[in-house]
Amino acid sequence: MNNFLPKAYLQGRIIDFKDANISIATHALHYGTAAFGGMRVEPSSKKPGSVNLFRPELHLKRLSDSARLLGYSLTESQILKIITEFIAANPGDKPYYLRPLAYTSDLGIAPRTHDVEFDLLVYGVEMGEYLSSDGISCCFSSWTRGEDRGLPLRGKISGSYVTSALAKTEAINRGFDEAILLNSRGKVAEGSAMNIFMVRDGVLVTPPVTADILEGITRRSILEIATKQGLKTVERDIDKSELILAEEVFLTGTAARITPVKRIEQYDLPDTRPITDTIRQTFNDIQAQKLPEYKDWIQSFPSADL
Ligand code: PMP
Repeated sequence: MNNFLPKAYLQGRIIDFKDANISIATHALHYGTAAFGGMRVEPSSKKPGSVNLFRPELHLKRLSDSARLLGYSLTESQILKIITEFIAANPGDKPYYLRPLAYTSDLGIAPRTHDVEFDLLVYGVEMGEYLSSDGISCCFSSWTRGEDRGLPLRGKISGSYVTSALAKTEAINRGFDEAILLNSRGKVAEGSAMNIFMVRDGVLVTPPVTADILEGITRRSILEIATKQGLKTVERDIDKSELILAEEVFLTGTAARITPVKRIEQYDLPDTRPITDTIRQTFNDIQAQKLPEYKDWIQSFPSADL
């Protein structure tokens, strides 16, 4: 059962979640013409009554960019104002996932992004562990990640998640926890809603932003952490067989955090993962605000300095 937060933001105001309903004729529902974000909101252990967000400025920028790709002008400060209002309207001490969605709110038919009204809605849902942090099994999906020339994959565009949904369900039906999608060139792209990393010969490797991936905020943060720790990192294409031979493989995302992969198809991966463990420890310490050098990555709300 989903535990939704009591208040939502819809059509310019905060209302009860149960009353936050839209018409069956909503344009975005039919055409996938929407862009969304996803942030974890964690109660602050340092400032009682306030909550922490991880690198919110990057999330605001990505949502603004995603909306822009659909022709909707939504500035970062507009989104920030609404999110701040939403957080204030939902006080509590449980962590949750905050979901803003910029969508074509017009009623009626004809797929288009011009002459159509947009709206931004926000809701929240309590969230625990998304994937087992002990490690998961992955299959190679029979679905191919879309191409950026077919749809703007740099944005979190709702329509593109049809591929993610099909891949995830196929993986579960085959007895796996997650799917790894290849791109149209046959190179490794990402998971259903997470980026992918591998370690080969001690080097941390992840597909480049031109491999039809989503430019994940966790991905970027991990590359920064690894570089600071003196680890060699490379953004390059990854072949399917390299993942099977890798010393370590992990998936990253706001919901998934850093999730180790322990098996791919019928191949078991090593169960010692020194690099994953080190990066994961640093990532957790950053979230717990234990590392002063990363203090800018955590912003507390309410806050005056964003
Ligand atoms: N790829 C896809 C398709 C996603 O939906 C997500 C989740 N937003 C990610 C990767 C990981 O991105 P992030 O680290 O910004 O959550």
